[in-house]
Amino acid sequence: MFLCVKSAKIAVMSEKIHLQGLTKDELIEFVAAHGEPKYRAKQIFSALHARRVREFDEITDLPKAFREKLGAVAQTSTLRVESRYISEDGTRRFLMKTHDNFPVEAVFLPSESRDTICFSSQSGCPLKCDFCLTAKLGLLRNLTTGEIIEQIIIVLNDVYGVAGETPHGTNLVAMGAGEPFLNFENLIKALNIMSEKDGLFIVPNRVTVSTAGIVPKIYEFADLENRPHLAISLSAPNNELRDKLMPINKRWDLDELFTAAKTFEKSLRRGERFTFEYVMLGGVNDSEKDAQDLADLLNKHDLRRVKINIIPHNPAEPLEYKPSAPEQIERFQQVLAKNGIDSYQRRPRGRDIYAACGQLAAKTQPNLVQIVR
Ligand code: SAH
Repeated sequence: MFLCVKSAKIAVMSEKIHLQGLTKDELIEFVAAHGEPKYRAKQIFSALHARRVREFDEITDLPKAFREKLGAVAQTSTLRVESRYISEDGTRRFLMKTHDNFPVEAVFLPSESRDTICFSSQSGCPLKCDFCLTAKLGLLRNLTTGEIIEQIIIVLNDVYGVAGETPHGTNLVAMGAGEPFLNFENLIKALNIMSEKDGLFIVPNRVTVSTAGIVPKIYEFADLENRPHLAISLSAPNNELRDKLMPINKRWDLDELFTAAKTFEKSLRRGERFTFEYVMLGGVNDSEKDAQDLADLLNKHDLRRVKINIIPHNPAEPLEYKPSAPEQIERFQQVLAKNGIDSYQRRPRGRDIYAACGQLAAKTQPNLVQIVR
């Protein structure tokens, strides 16, 4: 429980190398610096990522003396689960804390066909989307590569048991707290490490990264060799409204965003599409005219390989929006369909435990708490 110790000690803890955040090559360098052969790096990597071990003592294929040496300079677990909430629909929300006490939230979404883990890239978020509760936290700090990975390992262990099989593969979505493209390097490094065959083996094809529209990073992402899928949060079909709902639009407007999206479209693989997310706010952005404007915008930029993911607004105090009426969402989708645009609705999950989209704000609910050991 190093969370409660005084700051001087925390500083010492944080200087220790977080092994989950090292690539295989970096681990090899690390063990070499401690006078150990290369195969020790392999042992550590597979213990941490394939077997999802969180304590040095459990890496029993390492000599005890080396484990002790490791413990003095490195660490394997830096996150502490503060509480876990389980929704009536089976969704689980994990509220974790970093060693320096910042909140990290992840959500597990079970499904018959394929489970999904929604993870955070930052603690809090610097973007000020008006309809999102996470925005109220502001940016607390970027998560490190190791913290991004450890967060997912904690969820996997809770759901499938330590080192348990992941039954039907697990999808990852970078749709928790934070703007992934403002923590680009750490995120991409984490995704690369998690894709390793002798590790978690979550390949890019099972990962989706969502951005509010950090335009230069969309170009960079398009250029990545082995990249995950992309979703872009749109939520308004014109600059005037988007400026209000998503102030990032004042930095990169719709024209710049759609030009980048067109470049991204050209990088799509055979059969692949990408997504525009559209949060439906009752009476604000859900009219049939809004739908037609959206269709026109896609046409103007000749975007063809897209689908629209409609997210009914998840209300929460003090957000001043209400969800659109279901009939209105249907009318909106009909206009899109008439224009040849595919759209589907994201079913709200985990609203009762503050786990749904835009609801991650490190909320604690004493009556629902279940502690994970
Ligand atoms: N910052 C990134 C990653 C967060 S993804 C991004 O904006 O894409 C979270 C998704 O939930 C985004 O599409 C966001 O627009 C949406 N969202 C935010 N608040 C919401 C709310 N209250 N109800 C429904 N969706 C919301």
